[in-house]
Amino acid sequence: MLSEIPHFIHGKNIAATGRKLSVYNPALGEIIAETGVADKIIVDEAVASAKRAFAAWSQVTPAARAKILARYKLLLDSEINNLAKLVTAEHGKTLVEAVGSIQRGIDVLDHVCGIQTHLQGVYTANAAKGIDVYSMRQPLGVCAGITPFNFPAMIALWMFPMAIACGNTFILKPSEKNPSTSVRMVELAYEAGVPEGVVNLVNGDKETVDAILAHPDIKAVSFVGSSTVAEHVYKTSIANNKRAQAFGGAKNHSIVMPDADMKQAAEAISLAAFGSCGERCMAISVVIAVGDTVADKLVALIKERIARFKVGPGTEEGVELGPLINQQHLEKVISYVEAGKKEGATLVVDNTMMKPDNAKNGYFMGACLFDHVDPSMKIYREEIFGPVLCITRVPDLESAIKLINDHEYGNGTAIFTRDGYTARTFAERIEVGMVGVNVPVPVPVPYHSFGGWKNSIFADTQMYGPEATRFYTKLKTVTERWTPEG
Ligand code: NAD
Repeated sequence: MLSEIPHFIHGKNIAATGRKLSVYNPALGEIIAETGVADKIIVDEAVASAKRAFAAWSQVTPAARAKILARYKLLLDSEINNLAKLVTAEHGKTLVEAVGSIQRGIDVLDHVCGIQTHLQGVYTANAAKGIDVYSMRQPLGVCAGITPFNFPAMIALWMFPMAIACGNTFILKPSEKNPSTSVRMVELAYEAGVPEGVVNLVNGDKETVDAILAHPDIKAVSFVGSSTVAEHVYKTSIANNKRAQAFGGAKNHSIVMPDADMKQAAEAISLAAFGSCGERCMAISVVIAVGDTVADKLVALIKERIARFKVGPGTEEGVELGPLINQQHLEKVISYVEAGKKEGATLVVDNTMMKPDNAKNGYFMGACLFDHVDPSMKIYREEIFGPVLCITRVPDLESAIKLINDHEYGNGTAIFTRDGYTARTFAERIEVGMVGVNVPVPVPVPYHSFGGWKNSIFADTQMYGPEATRFYTKLKTVTERWTPEG
């Protein structure tokens, strides 16, 4: 009998009814659970609960909300290893990677717990005779968050803690591929003291998302996933008078200059390209080598590093590359490798058929490396979202910057150099939202904000940090006049 992953509405698990979807363990290649698909009726129920809860929760002081969230952070800290086991079982990434990613989510709580300060307004005394002006930030109402499969814990933690700290209530719709971690995190929020209805969770796929986007009582939608869906979610939300932020796909380039420390760059790039089996929106998927000497050195070093990657189940000690999420995605990634070969790129390392001996049915492949990748090729233009790294050769920094600026995506990028002026020029001119200098995965710390540019984002505000307070609140400005007469 398969375990069933419930919805979570008004502080309680709600058994799934109706259409069901299978949840796999990608290392075993086996179905391990079933999740329901919330239809319009279940979404209505969740929104009604959140709407009821909003009246009281929005009146709880920010300091009292912060206290509950501080307890929540401690609970997440103490449960991190159990949450990581859920992530690894349903996503496949290694336990070390799972713990690391959950920790990045928990770190956001540190910032969230300072909500009293983030909500402070500004005050102008004597704007005119007897008149003072002040501003305040007020919550929106019921907000929703829709998350992708690749970070089952972290991305949900980017969203609902800040939303509820601001006084909103929330509906979370995790990826149908691995919803268990989110369900457990919502249960923990209640253990920490979040009142009934403040955070609700509905499982499902497009049907559930469409019910969320159409619901008139949902005031704001945060989304993270592929760009096609991000654009649909953003446009539909806006058309339905909701505030929206939708984060999409990526093709992150890393430039390596001739003066860079080649060993450090090759190690950093290998981990950034193949970690989490390349299923990261901040993974490096293209290296732009400035000059043939740089390219030749990098190819040799990365090839040597790939040979040391151990591929296997994420629960196994020493494994660095777990499986991909499912068979369909594995076949898609392999089809990109085939396309690269056909289009004339040089496949330096081909590990498409690599499977660990103890998990032959899992969705495994090893790291693959292409050299001489031309910007016209499909493997250069499209997001592969797997362990495939492309090397493109250019003669100078100017051509490298142009390539990145011409690409449709602009999530993250990095440069490896020892020259400050080169780094400064790059940081200033590059059309990408998150930039690293000798840092391969420049995910901002939680008190800055996260977000790409171009087709990696459909939004006016970024995620977490100061931008999150702006997204989850509306500004009110009061102009008041008091005189001796009253
Ligand atoms: P996805 O777009 O397939 O799914 C994301 C969410 O949307 C899921 O909850 C899913 O149920 C829902 N969904 C899927 N198809 C839908 C449809 N047609 N209509 C409405 N809802 C739909 O993405 P994924 O495969 O889960 O995640 C991988 C993608 O997410 C990659 O493109 C990756 O780059 C991107 N991503 C981006 C960021 C970022 O911050 N920019 C972070 C993580 C992942």
